[in-house]
Amino acid sequence: MRLLRNAAEVRSVLADDRAAGRSIGLVPTMGAFHAGHLALMTASTAQDDVTVVSLFVNPAQFGPSEDLARYPRDESGDATAAEATGVGILFVPSAQEIYPAGFDTWVDPGELAAVLEGAVRPGHFRGVATVCTTLFSIVQPARAYFGRKDAQQVAVVKQVVRDLAMPLEIVACPTVRDPDGLALSSRNAYLSADQRASALALPRALEAGLAAHRGGGDPVATAEEVLAAEPALAVDYVAVADLDGPTLAAAVRVGPTRLIDNVRLED
Ligand code: AMP
Repeated sequence: MRLLRNAAEVRSVLADDRAAGRSIGLVPTMGAFHAGHLALMTASTAQDDVTVVSLFVNPAQFGPSEDLARYPRDESGDATAAEATGVGILFVPSAQEIYPAGFDTWVDPGELAAVLEGAVRPGHFRGVATVCTTLFSIVQPARAYFGRKDAQQVAVVKQVVRDLAMPLEIVACPTVRDPDGLALSSRNAYLSADQRASALALPRALEAGLAAHRGGGDPVATAEEVLAAEPALAVDYVAVADLDGPTLAAAVRVGPTRLIDNVRLED
């Protein structure tokens, strides 16, 4: 595996792969890899001849009061884990590399980016859409892999790719969970044992909502009831939305940590 920090190097290495007819897969990440990230890499290495993983904690998708400064970082552990899954290139740009002096062009997705996460985190999806566009432009992959854990992100990125006629396929991969049901997230590292026990109400609420939906009931009201029974959680939202298919999505806060999760209501 090559660890590259400059876009120009990535372009030049991949030009050779492309000339040799090799297909390129991209897995955009912010690092602190867990089994959810590794599943995306494995999906790409199974499908594509060359897998590029980007590791970039994108300042543009964090709000001013969010956890950018304390976001978990472990570049050497990440490099070891990525290499073990057969990744060809780990691209670790600096903020300066992605947003050089004078950078002033933004990709601003519309209505879909204004609800749910977008309503709670203004500008978040503008940051996501912009960095993904830049990464797609540098890597020019045939496919880019995203996790359904961030279902709204999948839907927004698919919309951007469609609207701007970008020549790549967005592949959505299932959410990877711990055996207790909690969706893996780099932010789970922030949770104390007690907070983690409280956080389990989130997947429980979504499963209860899904079961209610299947039985002809109201998924949102059912999920809200389960969350209301856990006093340590503050609920940001529970909603059904078309996020690349009908989806029950929720966001909660446990102490200072914000967690999101979702279930698809139909396969
Ligand atoms: P992040 O590093 O949090 O920006 O995530 C990078 C990619 O990994 C995104 O496409 C996420 O949706 C995906 N991802 C994060 N957690 C999970 C998970 N538990 N299961 C599947 N994919 C995930």
